[in-house]
Amino acid sequence: MQPERFDHFMARANAAYYATHDFSRDFVTAPELTQVFGELLGAWAKTVWTMLGSPENIILAEAGPGRGVLMAGALRVWPTPNVHFLETSPRLRAEQASRVPHATWHESLATLPPGPLILLANEFLDALPVRQFIRRETGWMERHVQNSAYVELPANYPLPDDPEGSVREINEAALDFCTTLAARNAIALFIDYGPTQSAPGESVQAISGGNYAGPLAAPGTADLTAHVDFAAIATRCHAQGPVKQNAFLTSLGLFQRTDFLARKNPAQAEALKLSAQRLTAPEAMGSLFKCLALCPKGFPPLPGFE
Ligand code: SAH
Repeated sequence: MQPERFDHFMARANAAYYATHDFSRDFVTAPELTQVFGELLGAWAKTVWTMLGSPENIILAEAGPGRGVLMAGALRVWPTPNVHFLETSPRLRAEQASRVPHATWHESLATLPPGPLILLANEFLDALPVRQFIRRETGWMERHVQNSAYVELPANYPLPDDPEGSVREINEAALDFCTTLAARNAIALFIDYGPTQSAPGESVQAISGGNYAGPLAAPGTADLTAHVDFAAIATRCHAQGPVKQNAFLTSLGLFQRTDFLARKNPAQAEALKLSAQRLTAPEAMGSLFKCLALCPKGFPPLPGFE
């Protein structure tokens, strides 16, 4: 077998993983934790739509909608007709159709209809493939995969002069995705984990059956992710944030909405409150998770980014 560039390997492994596995058994995401998450994002999108002047032909899109739970919650708050999903997994498309039957599905941004666009994406960018570079004595090398092992080939990519042993990850797919959105003046909300400042180092990890696994061991059985370099995205595309998830969700009314539902539904009160805590506690998901919004230059502050 020829050496395969690491990002190509990661793309292939994740496509196989999402086509064959129910990710929600392997790791918990915010919309799967509490219905409030999708509802708050629906309210966010509705406010943004108003800021755009309430255009009738608004498109609400979601990238990597998982089981469709986030969008189902968003549509309870803002029942908008033009819903578009970017999803490559046939298995997850079926799940999404069970919750949002009127959606239209796409492989990529290229086939979305023209018109004003609001896009939501939770834990999508982290699943996109990254290129991995490592600095050796002779210069930068790029990681490839061959026979389930890493091999390094000389890199052909402009990188800073880091010390020997340094690792850099470049998420070209995420940068291209955001550049495409920016080019059509979309408002896009990304929620994902990653540092506020670009940080060199290796962040790729694999989760299989709820446990950490070796990224190369059995491609297609583990979810491969990398930390999202929000600063790199914000350098390339006009953006608001990143802000920490706890500040963002609190400002959107996470605790008020949770209390309201808890009073209406006492049997669920405990679970709802625990989920809100888990989303906001710094040692859980509150601090590592960040929110970044792409928007045209000069756009007023978006909800949660004031
Ligand atoms: N947003 C959901 C699911 C997160 S898992 C949640 O928060 O629960 C990542 C999602 O991104 C899955 O739906 C997966 O199938 C999708 N995905 C991964 N790579 C993709 C790609 N290249 N194009 C489109 N969707 C992709």
